[in-house]
Amino acid sequence: NRLSIVAANWKMNGSLALVNSMVSELNNVTLNENVEVVVCPSFPYLAAFSLASDNVNLSKAFSLGAQNLNEFANGAFTGEVSTSMLQEVGASYVIVGHSERRSIYNESSVLVAHKVKAALSAGLKPILCIGESEDERVAEQTEVVLAAQLQPVIDEIGIENFKNVVIAYEPVWAIGTGKTASPEMAQATHQFIREFIAKVDENVAVKLPLLYGGSVNATNCEELFAQADIDGGLIGGASLKAEEFKIICSAA
Ligand code: 13P
Repeated sequence: NRLSIVAANWKMNGSLALVNSMVSELNNVTLNENVEVVVCPSFPYLAAFSLASDNVNLSKAFSLGAQNLNEFANGAFTGEVSTSMLQEVGASYVIVGHSERRSIYNESSVLVAHKVKAALSAGLKPILCIGESEDERVAEQTEVVLAAQLQPVIDEIGIENFKNVVIAYEPVWAIGTGKTASPEMAQATHQFIREFIAKVDENVAVKLPLLYGGSVNATNCEELFAQADIDGGLIGGASLKAEEFKIICSAA
């Protein structure tokens, strides 16, 4: 029985008001067994989210994540945030290598691998994002691209450390577009990812939570989550609306 995770990626959205209303809404959600919910707001809201969660005594099934981290422990890196800072404000997860970080901020798979390592060394669970662009899918390069994104991380941290990693498969063409991968297409790609890991270590692969991301909403979540190799989702736009996000959490 694998852990299922529903993670909210607020991206550069939200407010203190949303932090407080979301925490009180989540306090009324009943989750299935073996499901965890992770909310990832922007850096300035992490501490407030922790405090609000403590105030309502939010269940341990809900935790906090950041959207990015710096790979170094400290130093002259203006504008950057370290793992110890994230921990101090209550984060236990961190999204690493989101496609927006890769494409807009030029994060390479090697840098992503260093960030995954830094997260793990500090005891934070990385949510490692991988995914192909539309051109890559059309050119039938999806598996090549995913392998090229995964391999540097395997090389950097060693396969045994994937027991503390969550992978989110997010086809870039499905992010924020309303174009979800069909459940069959998502399942086929998830199966490829699990088999890719299984070739290195079968035990790790069996337990690895694989999340789907890209236009997940209250209507399509159930069918996606029902797929054999889909263990929850990474939710963008629909995670900003408490009513919709609650439905998605309960579907996992
Ligand atoms: P949307 O759910 O808005 O498509 O975003 C997906 C995503 O990028 C989550 O990380």
